[in-house]
Amino acid sequence: METGTKRVQIYDTTLRDGAQREGISFSVGDKLQIVELLDDLGVDYIEGGWPGSNPKDIDFFKRVKDISLKNVKITAFGSTRHAHTEVSTDVNVKALLEAETSAVAVVGKSWDFHVSHALGTTLDENLNMIADTINYLKQKGIEVIFDAEHFFDGYKCNPKYALDTLKAADDGGADTIVLCDTNGGALPLEISEILSEVKKEIKAPLGIHTHNDCGMGAANSIVAVQFGAMQVQGTINGYGERCGNADLCTIIPNIHFKLKYNQFDPEKLKNLTRISNVVAELSNMIPQDNQPYVGRNAFAHKGGIHVDAVSKHTHTYEHVIPEDVGNKRRILVSELSGKSNILFKVKENKIKLMNNFPEAKEVLETLKNLEHEGYQFEGAEGSFELLIWKAMKTYRPLFELEGFRVILDKQRRGDDLYVEATIKVRVGDRMVHTAAEGNGPVNAMDNALRKALEEIYPKLKQIKLVDYKVRVLDGKEATAAKVRVLITSQNGNKRWGTVGVSSNIIEASWIALVDSIEYGLLCEESPSISDFKDAIKKAAWEEEYIISSSNT
Ligand SMILES: [Zn+2]
Repeated sequence: METGTKRVQIYDTTLRDGAQREGISFSVGDKLQIVELLDDLGVDYIEGGWPGSNPKDIDFFKRVKDISLKNVKITAFGSTRHAHTEVSTDVNVKALLEAETSAVAVVGKSWDFHVSHALGTTLDENLNMIADTINYLKQKGIEVIFDAEHFFDGYKCNPKYALDTLKAADDGGADTIVLCDTNGGALPLEISEILSEVKKEIKAPLGIHTHNDCGMGAANSIVAVQFGAMQVQGTINGYGERCGNADLCTIIPNIHFKLKYNQFDPEKLKNLTRISNVVAELSNMIPQDNQPYVGRNAFAHKGGIHVDAVSKHTHTYEHVIPEDVGNKRRILVSELSGKSNILFKVKENKIKLMNNFPEAKEVLETLKNLEHEGYQFEGAEGSFELLIWKAMKTYRPLFELEGFRVILDKQRRGDDLYVEATIKVRVGDRMVHTAAEGNGPVNAMDNALRKALEEIYPKLKQIKLVDYKVRVLDGKEATAAKVRVLITSQNGNKRWGTVGVSSNIIEASWIALVDSIEYGLLCEESPSISDFKDAIKKAAWEEEYIISSSNT
């Protein structure tokens, strides 16, 4: 295949088909924010919604006109006219025109079974509806994209009729004809074979719209492009009903890096991971860690042999450079790790190493013991870095716990639960003793610890707890089982996780809480950490060292 000169239109339908996913409800403001992100990325079309279906979409089409856009065409979505109506007075078609977009997507039926059973009209009238609607919109000077709904299923049942619907759209003057795998049931070879047959009969450029019900959403889109589709429709993060739509976060980098279509600005592609995360946030969805290219795990390495190889030559275990899609390489730390993981992690943190790092062995030993107890540091990079710091000679504890007590009290059914924590900590040679209430034991301990430390470390006020998770490690032991507590904290833009394990949930929480505050303060306050920060500035990592000393 030729490279470098080809181009395919990217058509985003996150705001319409993507919003069909359970749990997603975009405000107009969310939609406008997504439009700006995708315009900047270099997407060609954004389907803004179905103006005929709800007033929120009508409002969107009004307000989007106030945004100045660089590349993208905003598209309104709607269906063909109703059976046996006059196209110029049809409500579907009117709503499309009222959106006042330069391009519209018109969906029509191409499966004979749907025409007679869902639409309840004749096969001939359906062809008239397609041709009439497109012809009318073309006369108004609008670009028309025809979405042939259920095309692949329709073609498999009745290829002649399915093709006739496309011919009706072609005769009506459609600018692009999009073959839709609406049920997501097709496999890549079927897509390529059917698309090749259609290409022989249809003049208009073809597009592809796939769903992920067989796990083939992105694969079917890519194979369609390889067989001549000129437009790909999909959604950010593959959002969509059931198993979702084809994921543009996978398709766009595949088109750029694998098919080598030279159409995206490499600098803009570096925003892809961020766009994926922002859209997840606005959708109120948890980002998918294992998502290709943009997921948190997409370039995370765990096994020691991998890490050793990655540290020497990144391409040995990575198919593209993570930074090219705005992602980053992560080295996970676990008992499977060799020494090279620890050294990589240290390198990542730019700790100055002389020609020797005896601490690595010590950290690895501690790590193995802790993991045996049930610790896991993959979501707790704050606790892990503390381990390294504690192994270094410059480490000085900011405070030491002498003891704590938590009181829970509920005298009668219906009473509020009363929670109070008292703690005793030593800061240097000062002993501080405080008590605080809270809405739960962890909150009360957090409040008491802050009360004790805030006067001495005022920057503690900037550190906030943002998430708290508990995992039972051995369900069989029921309430006697060990628990692992994971706390996420934040200071400005910086976020870190810390972990604690115990058979007592209060103690596990306490361990994670103390790490969270100590790590946050060390980043802000510690005099001993200034060595660490100087080292960051001066750091010169000796590549030879990591290679000669790795022992996996
Ligand atoms: Zn769809």
